[in-house]
Amino acid sequence: MNEEDLQTEFNPQDRVDEFAKLEPEFWKHKRLEDLNHYEWEALCDGCGKCCLNKLEIKGKIRFTNAYCRFLDCKSCLCKIYKQRFSVVRDCRDIDLEAVREKPRWLPKTCAYWLLDNGYDLPQWHPLITRRAASVREAGMSLSGRELINESKVEDYEDYIVDWPDL
Ligand code: SF4
Ligand code: SF4
Repeated sequence: MNEEDLQTEFNPQDRVDEFAKLEPEFWKHKRLEDLNHYEWEALCDGCGKCCLNKLEIKGKIRFTNAYCRFLDCKSCLCKIYKQRFSVVRDCRDIDLEAVREKPRWLPKTCAYWLLDNGYDLPQWHPLITRRAASVREAGMSLSGRELINESKVEDYEDYIVDWPDL
């Protein structure tokens, strides 16, 4: 993909402002299976942690701090969101199957995983705060962490991280 085709500036708050159109606290009385497209998309907190490269070692997923080259590390949003599956071969759709896959490969703070496992949304989730920045302020996004672009990585095993929110 031509670099010029990439969007380089994002305002994650634009997305959060749209949450006002959704049914209040829909996640408390609807199952994941019953969410409409907009509700499903709103559950993503925008942490960016699912865009880290991972290894499966002895039946467990180990995260690395090597991020997909299409992740904008400032906003923690994908630069090619609409075309991501055609551009990145191993980019995964976050659907129910992905949420329930074993071994777990979504971070344990991921809203989809939390709700599917009987937990409520954390207080810093943008659906509760109505602010995209609350994820970063709570230290739950990739923003501000020591990261490396996957294009600079030779051996992913050298970049395994053990962050408590993974
Ligand atoms: S880990 Fe979950 S909440 Fe975070 S960006 Fe990925 S899908 Fe969204
Ligand atoms: S292409 Fe996929 S893995 Fe890469 S930043 Fe976008 S959503 Fe994340």
